[in-house]
Amino acid sequence: MPLLRHTDVPSRVKENFILTGYRFPNYSVKDCLLSAFRPTNETGNFWTHFLPVFIFAYYFVEVFGWEGAPHADSPFFYPLWNYFIGVFCLLMASSMAHLLNSMSLVVREVCFFVDYGTISSYTVGSSLAYYYYIHPRAGIVETGGNNGSQTDLKEEPAGSLSYAIPDFCVFFENFYIPSACLVAIICVLSCCNTRQRWRRHRYLIRTFVFLLPFLVSSTPIFYRLLTRSPYSTTSSSFAASTSTAGFFYRHCFWLLVSAVFNISKIPERLAPGRFDIWGHSHQWFHCCTFLSILDELHLIKAEVKAILLSPTLLLPPATLAPLPGPTITSTYGVMLLLQTTIISVIVWFSWHANCIFGPERDKLAKEHPREHLKCH
Ligand SMILES: [Zn+2]
Repeated sequence: MPLLRHTDVPSRVKENFILTGYRFPNYSVKDCLLSAFRPTNETGNFWTHFLPVFIFAYYFVEVFGWEGAPHADSPFFYPLWNYFIGVFCLLMASSMAHLLNSMSLVVREVCFFVDYGTISSYTVGSSLAYYYYIHPRAGIVETGGNNGSQTDLKEEPAGSLSYAIPDFCVFFENFYIPSACLVAIICVLSCCNTRQRWRRHRYLIRTFVFLLPFLVSSTPIFYRLLTRSPYSTTSSSFAASTSTAGFFYRHCFWLLVSAVFNISKIPERLAPGRFDIWGHSHQWFHCCTFLSILDELHLIKAEVKAILLSPTLLLPPATLAPLPGPTITSTYGVMLLLQTTIISVIVWFSWHANCIFGPERDKLAKEHPREHLKCH
């Protein structure tokens, strides 16, 4: 099927400053999948989030081969797997959304709702990993039975908390994960809304809306940067976790650059039509978000390594009391509950989109009967 100019597609499909390379919104699933291998204005968007799935998986599995690492299915790794699920769903949903969005106007809307939903649940996956691996008392009690100081910790009086900033204690213990979930749901609601109203400032709103989960989920790192490391300065754990700050700053840098691309629409704004297929801002946005995820993975891995290098436990037991370790309910359970809520939000918005764009879709089907028949 021929590719179209911006003047030949419904206004809903048009992207600012992208003039050519459009697919008409009546492709079959097969046409959409095949379009990954032909140069359209979505091809780069697909590959810049699809290939990273494999790069991410490559760096991720390295953890399980480390010395002292418990088995991959031990409770110690539950938070890490939830982080993996978050990132995997984000990259897959984003790449597939870019590929399948030319099936119809309604499917296009659903694709992007799913995209926002997976970004939000990714932020909760990160928060779970931060909570259990970076949290000031990183409360992993069971690391596959090789944790010698478990009994020491149990003898610690529960009240002997030692937070450098005591106010954070209440926040971390009670509100950190619930706030991460709440903010994630607010994000999905706001971003889905920008597809139906507030259209004029949609890129700005979406970018700033995602600043909120970043601020909430990064609090364990802010805390670490503001206070001292929980590890003794002579320990190998301390040495392993020194790279955390550097990875975090780089993670922030990539997020900032990705936001600049997303809002400014540079370079296509400077030369409309020149970057229609390759090199437009959304592809750079994808690359930068992936680089930020990769630095976040390195950061989490550095903290996991620090924990594994302290077989007598993570944190100085004399000063810090134990937290319950990760359980199925506190990791997969939280993620499942969140995803169910997000899916409900998406279904609600999709039903709304169907009411809005259904008539337009039927009109297009009448105007292009041949192509429409091909879809069935
Ligand atoms: Zn995208």
